[in-house]
Amino acid sequence: MAEPERAVLSRLLSFTQPSPALETVGGCQTVAEVRVLVVNTGGTIGMIPRSEGLAPEANKLAGALAKIPILHDVAYAKETKLYSRLALGDDSLVLPLSKENKRIIYTITELSPLLDSANMSPADWGKIAKCLEANYEKHDGFVILHGTDTMAYTASALSFMCENLGKTIVLTGSQVPIYELRNDGRSNLLGSLLIAGQFVIPEVCLYFYNKLYRGNRVTKVDAESFNAFSSPNLPPLANAEVDFTINWETVWRSNTTKKFEVHTNMNSNVGILRIFPGITTAAVKAFLQSPMEGVVLETYGSGNAPNNRPDLLEELKKATDRDVVILNCTQCLRGAVSLVYATGKTLLDVGVIPGADMTPEAALAKLSYVLGKPQLNLAEKRKMLNENLRGEITVIPIGTRITLRDSKFIQGIAKYLYISCKEELEAVRDALTPALACTAAKTGDLDALKALQNMGANLSSGDYDGRTPLHVASCEGNLELVTYLLESGATVYAKDRFGATPLMNAIKFRHPDVISLLRKTGAHLSSQELVNVGTELCSLAFKGDIDGLRAWHLGGVDLNQQGYDGKSPLQVVMHHVDIYDMLLLEPNT
Ligand code: ASP
Repeated sequence: MAEPERAVLSRLLSFTQPSPALETVGGCQTVAEVRVLVVNTGGTIGMIPRSEGLAPEANKLAGALAKIPILHDVAYAKETKLYSRLALGDDSLVLPLSKENKRIIYTITELSPLLDSANMSPADWGKIAKCLEANYEKHDGFVILHGTDTMAYTASALSFMCENLGKTIVLTGSQVPIYELRNDGRSNLLGSLLIAGQFVIPEVCLYFYNKLYRGNRVTKVDAESFNAFSSPNLPPLANAEVDFTINWETVWRSNTTKKFEVHTNMNSNVGILRIFPGITTAAVKAFLQSPMEGVVLETYGSGNAPNNRPDLLEELKKATDRDVVILNCTQCLRGAVSLVYATGKTLLDVGVIPGADMTPEAALAKLSYVLGKPQLNLAEKRKMLNENLRGEITVIPIGTRITLRDSKFIQGIAKYLYISCKEELEAVRDALTPALACTAAKTGDLDALKALQNMGANLSSGDYDGRTPLHVASCEGNLELVTYLLESGATVYAKDRFGATPLMNAIKFRHPDVISLLRKTGAHLSSQELVNVGTELCSLAFKGDIDGLRAWHLGGVDLNQQGYDGKSPLQVVMHHVDIYDMLLLEPNT
């Protein structure tokens, strides 16, 4: 065969035997495409050696990553651009197809200037938060590249600043620059991208050395090892071994029907005071002086300070009387502040708030966040500091909770299947509960859903097709169930194996009240779902289907999009006066 014919043939074959990204089922691609935004703030991961030492280098990272095959699939990117299969921007990078059959497309945005994280300030946290907010709807997940020195502070701060978070945010960095032959940057970045792109873990997390941690639980413990972080009071949210194992029971959810927003007004008049034997009254007094408004007091063991130092206690009392908020945290790496000792009780008596098992980094960020809420009075702020806002403290459940592992039903099945070990029992539980929860959602059985949740079922997990109870309840238009699921932490960003979100299901089945509630909670259609929307709208317009058009409109879709032939729904329905009026008059949501 001649060369030109071979080229034509292979081109034809590429259309008739499409790459997975082209295959579609019901208008959605079977290979889920996900978009991750990488926010580069600086840190060792992108540093180069200079005469004065390692320092960040701007505008270098994306070009370097484009040459690393595990971080960029050149062939796929070229192919997709050639056939315009994806709206792949010139600056986009794409990972090779993941084991879970997902294409993670990522774009790097750099904050300016790039910083060694030792130079970070709360204003920089604000910049990162604003960047997340501006790009929230356009991406499925986020990775923040950051220096390790103050990563625990930024992760803690962002965990509070990001209110009603529904998507995965992962901070990572490295101990050795990614440009060096032997480095930890590549695997940290790859792991973070895979997590942010494939799992909805609606938390600010930190990924390092094969472990995903809750961001407000970590502390940097090693300046030299690749294993630089520890989360002493909470096991990792996920382990990256041969496969990713997500500890779903530990994942924190905001249990809300409110939309994501960022709070950037952090109070800067906060500090950390570490007590030590012989600390002088003058030092304590000076530290607590105005304009100080909030202090993390790092005490001994389970929250103890000397109770034989009336001078010291007097200074603390004077400060709390002046409305300075003092939060007690232990100097120990593990464990919590409790009232076991008389020396600990004394602090409570002078108005110091026990900080449970918070890290000092989390306590400082929480103080800065809570004291930055001008609408709250002091009593409300103190109350909020005692509450578990983002999983930063351990709350021991009252009474014993029956878990599905203990349930007679699961045990019966396990017996029938000759299962005895814990791992197999958990596997049976994990396989069965999503299906049971979806059935309950289908039949509108709220009691069954509640029972499953009480037994520890994760109402956000999907069945064999990735369909969650929220997908099913949205199809059914069951507002009560949808409300319950959202208030129980179900995510509006779950996608089934066809790439469909619960919002898409509610639109397709035309349930206006469910669509409105999902939108209020922050739901939006993914870029993958929006691919053929123009044609769909034109076809509804052609059929005179006003309810169908209203459903899309309520779902936040611009009704002026063009179909495959370049016509807008308005042009299609010039002759349908009622639809014409609606398209012309209803403002876009
Ligand atoms: N000094 C560096 C930083 O925090 C250390 C690192 O990234 O590992 O930016």
